[in-house]
Amino acid sequence: MRSQTQDRERDSSKRQPAPPVTRHVNAQPEHIEPASPARQTLAAHPSALKPTDILVLQQTAGNQAVQRMLTTGIQRQSQGGTDQNAGAQANKVQQMTADFDKALQDGDWGKAALILNGFAMFDILPRLEKMTPDQWREVKAAAEKIMAGWEGRVTTAIELVEHHRLLSPIPAGMKADPQGIEIIKRYMKALNQKARLVFGRPVESIPATPPLQSHFKDKLVEADTEAKIRVWEAGKTVPETAADWTSYGVQSIGSGGGGKHAEGLAVDINYWSAPYIIGEYGEQALDKELGAVYARIAGLINKEKSAIPALILKPGGRGVEELYDALQKESEAMKQYFGLVKDTEALKKIVNEYFASDFGKTNALGFSKDPDEVKRQIEQDYLILGGSIKQLEALLSGEPVMKGVTTPGVVYRMEFNKETKTWEKTNKPADRPFQGPHPERKPESGFLSIPREVVEALVAVGLTWGAVGLGGESGDIMHFDLR
Ligand SMILES: [Zn+2]
Repeated sequence: MRSQTQDRERDSSKRQPAPPVTRHVNAQPEHIEPASPARQTLAAHPSALKPTDILVLQQTAGNQAVQRMLTTGIQRQSQGGTDQNAGAQANKVQQMTADFDKALQDGDWGKAALILNGFAMFDILPRLEKMTPDQWREVKAAAEKIMAGWEGRVTTAIELVEHHRLLSPIPAGMKADPQGIEIIKRYMKALNQKARLVFGRPVESIPATPPLQSHFKDKLVEADTEAKIRVWEAGKTVPETAADWTSYGVQSIGSGGGGKHAEGLAVDINYWSAPYIIGEYGEQALDKELGAVYARIAGLINKEKSAIPALILKPGGRGVEELYDALQKESEAMKQYFGLVKDTEALKKIVNEYFASDFGKTNALGFSKDPDEVKRQIEQDYLILGGSIKQLEALLSGEPVMKGVTTPGVVYRMEFNKETKTWEKTNKPADRPFQGPHPERKPESGFLSIPREVVEALVAVGLTWGAVGLGGESGDIMHFDLR
């Protein structure tokens, strides 16, 4: 959520986080013969895709996807390979295609599975689309039997064509096949252009006032596939329904308020559990209090300086993956820090470790060596971040809040006066990050509830993440916008 006055007068080139670094290795899948003719020919020759294939693919995957696949093929062609080689490979592919069709006709499912595996993913999917459900079942069963251990490309492709989703974890050989993954991604994107789902929710069902702009909705739809592919590549079960995604970590998605929200170009994900932790417009005074708490958390738990706000204000060319790592580390430290109030032994141990560490020896943060005093500080920090006394009591499981811990005073928001060019105090109270009546908003849960793959996917399609991409107002963990 951002206020009306935000999102102005910022240089977008400085704000845009660097795109995530690709994690793929460009290598041939191990189980495919190095000289796999289909792969090489199809990589070199988009014309090897027969018009019927193209027609089928267009009907199911949409024209744009097909156009992109063909263009990719043409680019590959211009990158290398002689015409002679290409011609020989085209012949091989023709032979393979004929052999494959015959194997299907003869019901020789094992042979069909083997030949299929020899094709590039680019060509496997349209071939599967022309087959019947019975043929899928037979070829899949045969692949699992005679290609045990390396059947993954064939079975993954069959599952994708049959169920329109990635049902099984990524097969080992697929991880080293970035081109195959890319084709699967495009295929899924084409499918989702019809389904229009965003993390399991129909894009039209996302609550938004005012409504989201259509090109922004397209980005969200695109990000859905990006996230799924990343989850899949991480070897995890790919969420599909809204319930799947909720348990995976996307609890809510919606838009309201000022700035980019008012333009229909922003969404907030996990509004309650991914708060605006620092940097909100006009809240410089509050940020001083908050920054001190983040410093104590990172200091006591990780024995290092906090990345908040230094890292998020000046990402300095770091990729989103790296920034996510840094923020996740602090979010986990926050969970641990507030968890200490109900674990005296752990608290003593942490305090000892802190004072024994190089970082703790300087004790620039001014922690007491008395664990009771540290506990008092932690309880006070809980309230500074906006947790309530009631929540703190619940965390203490009925034990009373320590004496001397007080509700912090109201800090007022500043407003920039354009005429005098100075900041002026208003009578509007600044809001503390964890303020708000929702069970999911509490300091002991940390602040980074949005899954890594979701953040990476949204940034990959061109959105800006409020946590790191808003210059001086970075810190808005829930926020993603198009600028
Ligand atoms: Zn927002």
